[in-house]
Amino acid sequence: MIPFNKPFLVGKETQYIEEAVLSGKISGNGNFTVKCQNYFENTFGFKKALLTTSCTDALEMAAMLMDISPGDEIIVPSYTFVSSALAFTRQGAKIVFADSRKDHPGIDEESIEKHITSKTKAIVVVHYAGVACDMDVVMDIANKHNLFVIEDAAQAIDSYYKGKALGSIGHLGTFSFHETKNIISGEGGLLTINDERFVDRAEILWEKGTNRSAFFKGEVDKYGWVDTGSSFLPSELIAAFLFAQLERLKEIQAKRKQVWETYFAALKPLMEQMLLKLAHIPDYAVNNGHMFYLITDHIEQRDALIKHLKTNGVHAVFHYLSLHKSPYHTAHNNEKAQQLPEADRYTDCLIRLPLFYDLSIDEAQQIARTIKNFYE
Ligand SMILES: *Cc1c(COP(=O)(O)O)cnc(C)c1O
Repeated sequence: MIPFNKPFLVGKETQYIEEAVLSGKISGNGNFTVKCQNYFENTFGFKKALLTTSCTDALEMAAMLMDISPGDEIIVPSYTFVSSALAFTRQGAKIVFADSRKDHPGIDEESIEKHITSKTKAIVVVHYAGVACDMDVVMDIANKHNLFVIEDAAQAIDSYYKGKALGSIGHLGTFSFHETKNIISGEGGLLTINDERFVDRAEILWEKGTNRSAFFKGEVDKYGWVDTGSSFLPSELIAAFLFAQLERLKEIQAKRKQVWETYFAALKPLMEQMLLKLAHIPDYAVNNGHMFYLITDHIEQRDALIKHLKTNGVHAVFHYLSLHKSPYHTAHNNEKAQQLPEADRYTDCLIRLPLFYDLSIDEAQQIARTIKNFYE
């Protein structure tokens, strides 16, 4: 059976963890944390990068930084992972869901404005499959209405919009290093801060509401409780693991993109015969090979194709269940359910194929042939 995902280890993870242990400093914000953060800032042009224990935590920090409170509204795509919405409901916000684009599961940028009210505080965009949303359109809307933009770039490390790294464009950005992502540390995440106004406070929220970071930099002569916050910073063991991965980022990305291109070339004829749909990569987006998906005509066909692949030794999976229909949202929202037909279509029809570093090009071709057999 070809698995859907297999975490890739570069080999140096345990060596760096051992170095961290022997250094005697294994709590957060040590050498490896600083090395990772510098790498992210220098490579991708984030104003400030802070490692977190997950992307979910980074999103929670974003909600705290914006002082989201009951009565505020946040616009979030419905077709996304729970955390893109959860982090804001925890602060008491009302989530207003937006639909996906017809040609991409990401937020329909043109639909955002109709959801804006006097209570709207922020727009969350999700760069689904590492493919950029149209950020010029999103930032223009945000600037016009004085809103914050958070890029949920969990899947989008080393992806670009018009040459700019994703996560460097919105006021805040969040990444995940969960073992299913391109670059991993088991669990792990990153908050990127591109708006100068948030930098100092982000370090305080990160360090349990204390000005400990400023103390270590010699900016204050004692530290204490100055704000809200939590324990968002990961231990050095996580950062050591992550740094080993970052050293091999280029190679990891190159291999993933090669698998992606192999699938795309092999399945393109089926798309041209209108038997299925493949990802649309707009001219402004550079893809990072995070995910390869295809879209079937209806849910019965999707289930039949997943079953056919399974019978032939391939583990393929569907993805998100739109959040506007989730039990939690419907139980906590009195208004009548939103109609988001594109989000529903991706919920019903999208299939993700195996894509990981150790998947061979031969295996990718074999999987594509199995799909062709299904349509024949
Ligand atoms: C993976 C993912 C998350 C959650 O990441 P964690 O690090 O597991 O918290 C959030 N949003 C999106 C879009 C994701 O793909």
